[in-house]
Amino acid sequence: MAKSRPPFASPITRILESLLDRYRDCREGDVASYIPELAKVDPDTFGICVATLDGHVYEVGDSRRRFTVQSISKPFVYGLSLDDHGVDGMARKVGVEPSGDAFNAISLGEEDGRPLNPMINAGAIATTGQVLAGDPATRLARILEMFRRYAGHPLEIDAAVYQSEARTGHRNRAIGHLLRNYDVLTDDPTPVVDVYFRQCSILVDCHDLALMAATLANQGRNPVTKERAIRAEHVESVLSVMASCGMYDSSGGWIHDVGMPAKSGVGGGVLAVLPGQFGIGIFSPRLDQKGNSVRAVRVCADLSEAWELHQFNPPYCPQTSRRHVHTSAEKHSSRSRHAREAACLRDHGDAIRVFEVQGSLSLATTEPIVREVLSAASDLRSLIVDFQHATAINVSSVALLADLASQLRDMGICVLFTHASRLPEIPRVVADRLGPVAAADILRHQSLDAGLESCENDLISAFLPDQDRRILDVSDYELAAGLSDTERAVLTSLLITRRYGRGESIVREGDEAHALFLIASGVVGAWTGPGGESARRTASFSPGTMVGGMAFIDGGPRSATLVADDDVECAVLQRGDFERLESTHPVVYAKILRNIAISLAAKLRLASAHLDLVTRRR
Ligand code: GLN
Repeated sequence: MAKSRPPFASPITRILESLLDRYRDCREGDVASYIPELAKVDPDTFGICVATLDGHVYEVGDSRRRFTVQSISKPFVYGLSLDDHGVDGMARKVGVEPSGDAFNAISLGEEDGRPLNPMINAGAIATTGQVLAGDPATRLARILEMFRRYAGHPLEIDAAVYQSEARTGHRNRAIGHLLRNYDVLTDDPTPVVDVYFRQCSILVDCHDLALMAATLANQGRNPVTKERAIRAEHVESVLSVMASCGMYDSSGGWIHDVGMPAKSGVGGGVLAVLPGQFGIGIFSPRLDQKGNSVRAVRVCADLSEAWELHQFNPPYCPQTSRRHVHTSAEKHSSRSRHAREAACLRDHGDAIRVFEVQGSLSLATTEPIVREVLSAASDLRSLIVDFQHATAINVSSVALLADLASQLRDMGICVLFTHASRLPEIPRVVADRLGPVAAADILRHQSLDAGLESCENDLISAFLPDQDRRILDVSDYELAAGLSDTERAVLTSLLITRRYGRGESIVREGDEAHALFLIASGVVGAWTGPGGESARRTASFSPGTMVGGMAFIDGGPRSATLVADDDVECAVLQRGDFERLESTHPVVYAKILRNIAISLAAKLRLASAHLDLVTRRR
């Protein structure tokens, strides 16, 4: 029997375990005892969790041991009040300046009594009083509901810790009365302080803390449940006060050394946030002089150094949003074109440039694209920015691209954004900045292929004289290439002219093939898939090209439905007539067969080039 392998451990988990090992013997500091019940905690408990923004949690040690959240509740309740009153509304009640004082300092603004920030007790009690509710029970229920959204499950209150603080928290009650004195709190402060005691007694574990932190790192959306816990625009306010005031009177040293917004609580927890990256939750109850968990502070400092997490010196990340840039001279749309049109695209196609962008577009990754477009702009006739492979874009990046589009349009350049409706910010911001008419024009083609085809048509009509775009004679058909006058006369005698009105079907997908169509005028579109909305236009054909060649040759069913894009005239070659040529005019038969093969080869090349475009990864 095969020996079963030991389970693989992630190198991330190993690093977290090594931190547990490094600090397990550190017994510096003391557990908080000013709230008597807190002194009962096992001082050696130690857990670390890191939650990613796709909701994976790495956990080591006592990661599921519960403890009271205490001051870590403050930034979250502040976020709830911001959602209730907005930044300006809250600014009238609580400041955002670090106090440099201890967390329980009676630190109120001299004139208006406004606490300096929401992370010290005075500011936190004032903040709890701002949570909109008709009565204390509703206020607490709203706070618990808010925590449920962050943690992803309901949290409960430790009744013993709450009662212990309620019995002994005279200093916080005094702060409540001072806030009432200055009219920062406008009602009886006692029930507000009581809700504050209860919010501090909410039970969490490291796993919860990491997910709560990851929710803040994820612009306020819980990475597991995807539920929004706070309005995205308030996350920066919450994280800013955490960065400047979250670690009490050692906040300056913390942000200098560790470089990430964090919040600690006297219960022994520390929560740290790496915006846009992940959330960290640590629990170890022995506290330093300032009230921060000794081990948690060290673990965060080590992690920051080992993983280069300092927010003010992020490692250079050579991420690019430029996936692929090509011109119409290099790659064209799925339109099959007559040799003269194809030559025109080869000669002038550099004037059409396609920028395929990818990933998450921010100012830093959009700026080089804007610069590259501008450096090419003087030679451009059309610009397409394709968003098929973009996963996210921020408003400022759309604004940059919209302003670029506006400038190019003023210079007479056609600008198209394709696959733009995938990211709702694009149509919204383009319409906001350029108005609905210009936005509709820029966004008029959903697919890159359709956009490219229309830019090519525009280029061809500008550069190719009218008569070169029409089929005047049988010798213009690609099917007649290499035929002598007498051979061409044989072919001509077999061709029957047919006309189709705009929108009329020429053949249907799945039909038996009896004929080959040579397009004399108009454009034919090939559609596949079930009809109606889900039908897809997979290719199209210009005058001079042949269509229907595949089924004509192999006798299989039609691979697509052919529809006249506009009024179409075709010269039709019946399969039976063609087959008879093999014995009557074998040379003509062979030449036509070769021309069909060449045409199919060209389509195969076009299809491979497309496949390459679609599957290319950068
Ligand atoms: N409930 C505690 C208090 O007000 C919270 C303090 C803290 O965690 N720093 O004293």
